[in-house]
Amino acid sequence: MLCQQCGRDFKDQRQLRQHVRWHDKKYRCKHEKCRDKRGFACQKDLARHQRTHDQIKGTQCPYCNRKISRLDNLEKHLTRAHKNIFWVAVISGDEATVKLLLQDGGDGKPKDIDNNMALVLATAKGHAGIVNLLLDNGADIEAKGNPRLTLREIALTGAKPIGWSGMTPLAVASKYGHEAVVEALLQRKAAVNNNGSESPLTYAACRGHASIVKLLLEAGADVNARGCFDTTALYLAAATGHEAVVRLLIDAGASVRGRGKMIPLSQAAREGHVAIVKLLMDHGAVPGPGGSV
Ligand SMILES: [Zn+2]
Ligand SMILES: [Zn+2]
Ligand SMILES: [Zn+2]
Repeated sequence: MLCQQCGRDFKDQRQLRQHVRWHDKKYRCKHEKCRDKRGFACQKDLARHQRTHDQIKGTQCPYCNRKISRLDNLEKHLTRAHKNIFWVAVISGDEATVKLLLQDGGDGKPKDIDNNMALVLATAKGHAGIVNLLLDNGADIEAKGNPRLTLREIALTGAKPIGWSGMTPLAVASKYGHEAVVEALLQRKAAVNNNGSESPLTYAACRGHASIVKLLLEAGADVNARGCFDTTALYLAAATGHEAVVRLLIDAGASVRGRGKMIPLSQAAREGHVAIVKLLMDHGAVPGPGGSV
């Protein structure tokens, strides 16, 4: 009995029918260890099958060291034995566990929460690998949030992280100085200029993260964008004494006059940052109520 599609010979009708069904299955296992090149009707089934080829026998739970026979079972163990494990893994930077819980068919991620909260948490903690994983899994690169619970609180109480405010992931990463995360977000075209809310550049300038200021400027950040209380990045860097950042901003064409009553020169003088006062005056800032330039 010959297969009409490939000419293979079969002993009986039943075997032939089974084989013809295989032709209909679009997703084929191409793994070298797969002898019968099994076919599957959907991507998800193929992925589950392929994991059996890569499985490391006798793995261990990274949280309680319990011996686990198969990778599939580790996922079950994590979600059943460890409350809120997804959040703990996101916050502590356990990329392997996050990946395991996010993968096709994984049920470890809390169903009622999208990936956006996780993205903000991973960003705040500076875990670039997890940030990329979450973005690959549909998290919104402009998701706004500002998590207010500590890892300890979440792990101990099983509480969900709450507390959203207006910062985008790029603003959060800029504020906390996570350069790798800033790079990852910029590579994926995160907005460098927030319309309406405080710009990522002002957060980085205020905290003195010079390398991030540089990255943001190179990505097209508006050097005179508004920060909190009508400040600018230059005002904030001058006020907090971050000379390297002041230099970068002036070179990028920042207005030494600042905005409204927020005058960089006055504030740098008040705080006693002599080198910055000199730098600003060298670039046209004038003492006095007008501030000039
Ligand atoms: Zn055939
Ligand atoms: Zn296979
Ligand atoms: Zn465990």
